[in-house]
Amino acid sequence: MEQIQILKDREKQIFEKKDGGAAFDLSCETTSLSGSVSQRACVFCGSRVVLYPVADALHLVHGPIGCAAYTWDIRGSVSSGPELHRLSFSTDLQETDVIFGGEKKLYASLIELIEQYQPKAAFIYSTCIIGIIGDDIDAVCRKVAKETGIPVLPVHSEGFKGTKKDGYRAACISLMKLVGTGETDDISPYSLNILGEFNLAGEAWIIREYYERMGLQVVSTMTGDGRVDAVRKAHGAALNVVQCSGSMTSLAQDMEKKYGIPFMRVSYFGIEDMASALYDVAKHFPDRPDIMEKAREIVKSEVETLYPQLQKFKAALSGKKAAIYVGGAFKTFSLIKALRSLGMSVVLAGSQTGNSEDYRNLKEMSDEGTVIVDDSNPVELSKFILEKEADLLIGGVKERPIAFKLGVAFCDHNHERKIPLAGFIGMYNFALEVYQSVMSPVWQFAPRKGGQK
Ligand code: SF4
Repeated sequence: MEQIQILKDREKQIFEKKDGGAAFDLSCETTSLSGSVSQRACVFCGSRVVLYPVADALHLVHGPIGCAAYTWDIRGSVSSGPELHRLSFSTDLQETDVIFGGEKKLYASLIELIEQYQPKAAFIYSTCIIGIIGDDIDAVCRKVAKETGIPVLPVHSEGFKGTKKDGYRAACISLMKLVGTGETDDISPYSLNILGEFNLAGEAWIIREYYERMGLQVVSTMTGDGRVDAVRKAHGAALNVVQCSGSMTSLAQDMEKKYGIPFMRVSYFGIEDMASALYDVAKHFPDRPDIMEKAREIVKSEVETLYPQLQKFKAALSGKKAAIYVGGAFKTFSLIKALRSLGMSVVLAGSQTGNSEDYRNLKEMSDEGTVIVDDSNPVELSKFILEKEADLLIGGVKERPIAFKLGVAFCDHNHERKIPLAGFIGMYNFALEVYQSVMSPVWQFAPRKGGQK
């Protein structure tokens, strides 16, 4: 697709691995180029996806009603109990509020909602217009917290003030205000917090069960199936285990600094990384060899069941090519390994929020000829999918129409997925979905644009 041109100012955020990729200097962690139609969402959306899974908290979007279109439905984190997080409240700012200020409306909304829903805490999200008119949401939050007796936490997530990653940071700052405010008497020295796991389709439950079978106490999951009281006592855990590193590493760093809790990065996607996660966590408790023993038992029994099941998918998928474009770059590492275990190769890999280290690692593990992109757009993704003749695109809700319009299979590995893809069972679900989409007979009638498969 030579006729699809790349914007000149985007060239430094695109790299094709050639000759081992020696000269690698990919630009990243910058604001999106104007006119590029980035696939990224705004700062507020970044905060929302991190905090909304706290299911017994009130989530109030202070701004115009349009910002509240980012609702629970966009990322359906499931809860085993309260479901207050599924309601998206907004102060619905109007023109007069913009002129005279929205603080009174925010105060009145908070008092009314807290009285009606009795939440354990409230998160107040600041949107673009609040940053412009200068409402003092901190002062309103302090006042309401004093009057109601619950934590009322401002989230400084004005949409224009950076990238989605700045929204993750704003969310972590708010969570950090809750951490350390609960009792830790009942917490074992063999305990952990699961960070960066949002319980999409119940994935946090799968991971939690593995840790509990190993004999570890899970103090909190942040934030999937999250509870305010669990977050408040998270500082009592012995270890922080971070999966979605882009969103939660800063919280883990803050907790290490303030409470001395070490942290490690893991991934729960694919056999290899799932097993490594359990082994790495077990290694953190060397005085309890039974924890490692249990980890080995779990991996052995799960892999014995899973491995033969994967072979039929591998037989059909061997030689097929995949493109990956997801939120955080760390996930692409696991996806490359998982796809290789199915006999597939990756021809395009990219993310919305990767950093230099992520991309260097990605370059190292990529095959020759792989295109690496940062903060891409639909035109670039289409170009490389067609040029590299990908059979599959792995992405999220915004990438799905790109794949289908091009006549390419698609696997949702982002917010909207309805089946768990984490854990060993998740690897089976992933392989099944990839198989069903790539091998679907529908592609006979809607062949890939630019040629037959
Ligand atoms: S960019 Fe601003 S106005 Fe748009 S959704 Fe985000 S916070 Fe709201």
